[in-house]
Amino acid sequence: MELTNISTIKDVMTRNGVSFTKSLGQNFLINPAVCPKIAELGGCKKGAAAIEIGTGVGVLTKELAIRCDRVLAVEIDERLKPVLDETLAEYDNIEIVFADILKTDVNALITEKLSGYSDIVVCANLPYYITSPVIMKLLEERPPIRSVTVMVQKEAAERLCAKVGSRECGAVTAAVNYYSTPKLLFKVGRGSFMPSPNVDSAVIRLDIPEKPRFDVTDEKLFFRIVRSSFAQRRKQILNPLSSALGIGKAELAKMLEECGIKPTARPEELKMEDIVALCEKISSAK
Ligand code: SAM
Repeated sequence: MELTNISTIKDVMTRNGVSFTKSLGQNFLINPAVCPKIAELGGCKKGAAAIEIGTGVGVLTKELAIRCDRVLAVEIDERLKPVLDETLAEYDNIEIVFADILKTDVNALITEKLSGYSDIVVCANLPYYITSPVIMKLLEERPPIRSVTVMVQKEAAERLCAKVGSRECGAVTAAVNYYSTPKLLFKVGRGSFMPSPNVDSAVIRLDIPEKPRFDVTDEKLFFRIVRSSFAQRRKQILNPLSSALGIGKAELAKMLEECGIKPTARPEELKMEDIVALCEKISSAK
């Protein structure tokens, strides 16, 4: 079944009484070049397992199933079950769990369904209303996955893949860089989806190292520093950091200088190594 064909999608949905639900971010891919590219660049290969978030009618699921030994998908919309029974009937290596990914224990799911696989990747065309929470969940809960390759809104992709220490960098950029190495792979125009959204998209890949990228003694403190430094992105970090951490301005200014950071620095001037150094300095002073 050609799942990028508009009449095929409409037909299978209508026959099963399913309509598009905008609030679930249901914009399905209809550009035939995109899903194979996500699967290839997302590391799908023999011996590997893929986790998909949000199957829609199964257009990407199918490309993952062709390349990987096993596909485990999490889809919130149970109305899609009869549709997927039809569209993915010829693949016996796919299992779909109908659940909200944000309420799913991904580690437990992997232990239950993908034990025996050491090469596990996540590939998805994410519903945009939960892009950041899904990405942060996958990184923070540290499931045993090698990479996360996802379609997100173009502006989100640019923010997530910005250089830390640039004007485009935000708290989420620093957080993602703490756990992974992000890369913007390719852009996808709004016309590649049905219904067509009013924004363009891009596919990014977050490569997750086996060992953490940075040595941080107190992770909670690290993320408090990130959140408060970037709370006002164009302002100097000294004031917000001082009040968030309860450290006097003079003392904090000295600590910043000892870490090679100017006390007048703005968040866009901070590199990952600077944030890590400051975190270690503050932890050791406690
Ligand atoms: N993979 C399909 C494609 O590329 O055409 C569908 C992508 S569509 C952008 C997002 C999918 O995620 C929809 O099928 C939607 O029902 C599903 N979804 C939305 N919220 C979800 C959630 N919280 N957990 C799991 N799936 C969700």
